[in-house]
Amino acid sequence: MPDRIEGVKKLFTSRSARVETNKGESYYNDLFERCQTRLRELRVSQPANDRLDFSEVLSNNGVDRRDFMKWVSATTAMLMLPPMFSPLVAEAAELMNRAPVIWLELQDCAGNSEALLRSDGPKIDEIVLDIISLEFHETLQAAAGFQAEKQLEDAIKTFKGKYLLFVEGSVPMGMNGQYGTIGAGAETFYDHLMRVSKDAAAVVAVGACATFGGIPAAAPNPTQAVGVMDVVKGKPLINIPACPANPANMVGVVIHYILTGQLPELDSLLRPKFAFGYRIHDNCERRAHFDAGEYVEEWGDEGAKNNFCLYKMGCKGPMTFNNCSIIRYNEAVNWPIGVGRGCIGCSEPDFWDKYAYERPMANAKIKAPAGGVEKSVDEFGLGLLTAAGIGIGIHAIASAIGGKKEDGGAE
Ligand code: SF4
Ligand code: SF4
Repeated sequence: MPDRIEGVKKLFTSRSARVETNKGESYYNDLFERCQTRLRELRVSQPANDRLDFSEVLSNNGVDRRDFMKWVSATTAMLMLPPMFSPLVAEAAELMNRAPVIWLELQDCAGNSEALLRSDGPKIDEIVLDIISLEFHETLQAAAGFQAEKQLEDAIKTFKGKYLLFVEGSVPMGMNGQYGTIGAGAETFYDHLMRVSKDAAAVVAVGACATFGGIPAAAPNPTQAVGVMDVVKGKPLINIPACPANPANMVGVVIHYILTGQLPELDSLLRPKFAFGYRIHDNCERRAHFDAGEYVEEWGDEGAKNNFCLYKMGCKGPMTFNNCSIIRYNEAVNWPIGVGRGCIGCSEPDFWDKYAYERPMANAKIKAPAGGVEKSVDEFGLGLLTAAGIGIGIHAIASAIGGKKEDGGAE
């Protein structure tokens, strides 16, 4: 057991795993000044596009100032910034059109573009995304063929070194990349990506496929699909995984970039910590049932009717880092666990092969609580670590570091 505790300690005390929500007064004061300077410079610079006026777009969508300021407070908190940053976040949202964006679609289903587009009663995240200067998106734009190619060339030239390159979809490497080609010259997706990423300020891989290969990379991976980070090197790169990536996290990344000129702090998988720093399980509305040992045992049973925990039905929330349990999907109406379906770990590498089956992780023994809630959770986290090598349990390490005894859970 001591080895296991040491293992969990190591996992959760490594630098990449730490989420520091309070970096101290002098850090935030210094950051505040830098953000103010950056926003002043952006304000006087020419917008990359002035097709849309921010206030006009908000009012056309029926969003008043009060709603907007509520969104600003929530976004500031999501970015793990203190409330003093709220006015700056509001200003950054108004300056979204200073960030030119080129969007490439590779081997994918366009689900992330749909998430970006969603226009049925859009909430403020989607409206803010409307404002970004989307200079090229082959699926959404009117131009096609040679016109589209020219538009891409023009965007690369005009915004050289300044544009954010969003990439959706995996990169097929099999048969010299011939599984995916684009344009009259049959440029492979790989060459296309390398050409367009060369002059980008930063690359943002969006969705499960672009980040870790996603479903195209599932066994036996016939196209030898890989994620963007496997091929693009020497550039600031950020992964916003999930299937699809949540628009709120896309907005968070762009707002952070406008505000600071930099990408947010990342974990070891290059995911922004503000969105992927915690497990689904840590913020799940069914968590009290997990702690109390109340599970759905089969679909439609009394447990299901009472919204009990879905772990025994295969929920992978305990191993999955994402903020969908907080920000939810579809205009924040609901999320998978909220409608009674377990998490399939879509924000984790190899999720389709590792997590997307309807049973708990092999050998991860759930124990009914005996001796207190924390004990059961500790056992769960430590059990996973040994069984699957991925037992990531915030509670487990918190308890381990706090010196809890494995036998009784007492301090
Ligand atoms: S196992 Fe799944 S349903 Fe149960 S508390 Fe954790 S995340 Fe929620
Ligand atoms: S609940 Fe799990 S599978 Fe569903 S969107 Fe969130 S991370 Fe992905």
